[in-house]
Amino acid sequence: MSEVVWQAGAVSRSTRGSVTGGRGATVWFTGLSGSGKSTIATRVEEALIGMGRAAYLLDGDNIRHGLNADLGFSAEDRAENVRRIGEVAILFADAGLVSLVPVISPYRVDRQMVRQRHEEAGLAIYQVYVNTPLEVCERRDPKGLYAKARAGEITGFTGVDDPYEPPGSPELEIRTVETTVDEAVAAVLSLL
Ligand code: ADP
Repeated sequence: MSEVVWQAGAVSRSTRGSVTGGRGATVWFTGLSGSGKSTIATRVEEALIGMGRAAYLLDGDNIRHGLNADLGFSAEDRAENVRRIGEVAILFADAGLVSLVPVISPYRVDRQMVRQRHEEAGLAIYQVYVNTPLEVCERRDPKGLYAKARAGEITGFTGVDDPYEPPGSPELEIRTVETTVDEAVAAVLSLL
């Protein structure tokens, strides 16, 4: 798209940050379904807003209702799902918001691309690995999805018949079996 020229605005990121309570950033929560990503991200958003920092929960499932409603769960669609959410997070970070992004994002290469895009844009990204053993996620089964996957009603379900590739060097790893939600929230806030 060489004919399309990037249009710079007149407002700097630091000026935006003075309005939004601080610099924008992305906190990307990756982990199995039921690992605790949304639970922790929701609480972090609440805490940030409570302290006057512009923040937004960019929930992967919710985005599949709108922007990503055309995408399924093939490897290709998962990659595109992650790419689009990553690009939205970049825009929000540039706008001065802290995005809390709980999305399974099972493939390392897709997460790496999101990281690289943030770095190219000079924006902070913190990857948080919500590390909960599959058996625990399956026991919690907050949405009843593991039961459906085991019954064969859903195929290509991460952890059951689709792989999850754990991050090699996340900024933070939360083992929810040993960590309370309050402790996890405090650990995430300390990144920002
Ligand atoms: P995900 O967004 O990763 O699919 P959810 O946050 O929707 O997972 O569900 C995680 C479930 O695990 C919730 O029912 C939550 O209450 C429960 N849970 C139990 N202990 C923890 C913990 N220490 N951290 C996060 N969630 C926990």
